[in-house]
Amino acid sequence: DKREIAVPSKTKEILAKHGLTLKKSLGQNFLTEPNILHKIVQTADVTKETNIIEVGPGIGALTEHLAQNAAQVLAFEIDERLITVLADTLQEFTNVTIRHQDVLQTDLVKVTDEAFFENLPIKVVANLPYYITTPIMMHFLESTLPVAEMIVMIQKEVAERINAKPGTKAYGSLSIAVQYYMETEISFIVPKTVFVPQPKVDSAILKLTRRRQPKVQVSNEKAFFRLTKAAFQLRRKTLWNNLQHTYGKDPATKAWLQESLEQAEIDPSRRGETLSLEEFACLSNKMEENAV
Ligand code: SAM
Repeated sequence: DKREIAVPSKTKEILAKHGLTLKKSLGQNFLTEPNILHKIVQTADVTKETNIIEVGPGIGALTEHLAQNAAQVLAFEIDERLITVLADTLQEFTNVTIRHQDVLQTDLVKVTDEAFFENLPIKVVANLPYYITTPIMMHFLESTLPVAEMIVMIQKEVAERINAKPGTKAYGSLSIAVQYYMETEISFIVPKTVFVPQPKVDSAILKLTRRRQPKVQVSNEKAFFRLTKAAFQLRRKTLWNNLQHTYGKDPATKAWLQESLEQAEIDPSRRGETLSLEEFACLSNKMEENAV
């Protein structure tokens, strides 16, 4: 049987053979369009010189393409029923390791060390479960695992938020959190019709490429991310209102905020969404300098 797993008739047969019904609660929307898989593998430039981490292999539709092209593939799947299915559908591949694990509970550095034989560039390639797209991406970005690229399928609207530029409606703390570490690009849009079952919204392939160093220099990362969250707390409010909302309204705090804003040359009546990463970094560094 030379058909790819993603061919609709083959997917149907696999589900029937294992008596599998898909769980919405686990974000199980399976891809049934081989062309999209080919495009994903192309976009990710998967070669025998790369190791791949996949999240949520499902029945192995994307995994088989990754296995054919990569040095090794390590995949995390939370649903125990799929572990049996994958042992069947991927049996011909010797370079695939499937871990029955919640990726969010996984020590990525440790597991990766155990799984990969060679020290090759690591890429994350996945059709992510939509209910935890952001936590999964942040889990990888905040880990010390040196992921060179992430090529992930996520809801189109979330991809647009991550890729957003200052001054646009979609721009927010998520854009900043990701762009701090990675260059972002929306590679292509995927219509909801190519999934089983069909989700409510369209998807996008988001490509993230690690920057050699973070986009801006901050003296305290935690403080920087706290500031960027604070600035977007209430969308219609000014930066000044939002900062007081998070840091406090007492005279000493107000004086500290005011002085830092002044030194950073940022007008407090602006809205958070107009500030660039550079401006946020500058303000955060001034706030750190002026902190008592
Ligand atoms: N890769 C397959 C495809 O493209 O057709 C399936 C993708 S489906 C959108 C998401 C997969 O992630 C499901 O197989 C689901 O069981 C799995 N999953 C959900 N939550 C997970 C978690 N916390 N850790 C690992 N896998 C998870």
